[in-house]
Amino acid sequence: MPAISSNKPYRVGRSKTGLGLFATKPIKKGTRIIRYFGPILDSRIPAHDEIENKYLFELNGRWTIDGSVRKNLARYINHSCRPNAESDVRPRERKVFIRAIKNIEPGDEINYDYGTDYFKAYLKPIGCKCDSCEKKRKKLRAEARAQRTKAKARAERKAAKAGAKSAKKKAPKKNQLNGHAVAKTNGRARA
Ligand SMILES: [Zn+2]
Repeated sequence: MPAISSNKPYRVGRSKTGLGLFATKPIKKGTRIIRYFGPILDSRIPAHDEIENKYLFELNGRWTIDGSVRKNLARYINHSCRPNAESDVRPRERKVFIRAIKNIEPGDEINYDYGTDYFKAYLKPIGCKCDSCEKKRKKLRAEARAQRTKAKARAERKAAKAGAKSAKKKAPKKNQLNGHAVAKTNGRARA
């Protein structure tokens, strides 16, 4: 068993959000990486139905895998909205495998999409921390920043224009006044 375990193409490691599962070898797209396993819970048994933890993997309306057991290293795999793996759910066999949907390089974190129910219940309230969502947030922040810069530039241009206008307005007035004054003094001088 230890020989097999050292052959496994993954290890548990530190991720942004705690622990995660990372590739230690290249994993080809389509490969089964790991099995998500644990006791099978039957929703028709009240004691089973009461079990609640973050690692429950629902196979169908009746059967659920309780993946909270220590040996289930697949429980370390984090969610991603743009994952490099997927869960291959076999309700009849009551088995779940995590399979690569992209070529995964050593050092890459392995992740799969936990699905909408989990997302709504656990991730949406705290904000999803996956790379894809972080990138989206970064982009939105950059866009907001660009918008603010644009608005500021617009306001500055407007202010500059208004300044130029009032300067222009003042200038002819002065001339007019000067002209008037000159004419008046001229008049007075004449009178
Ligand atoms: Zn996400």
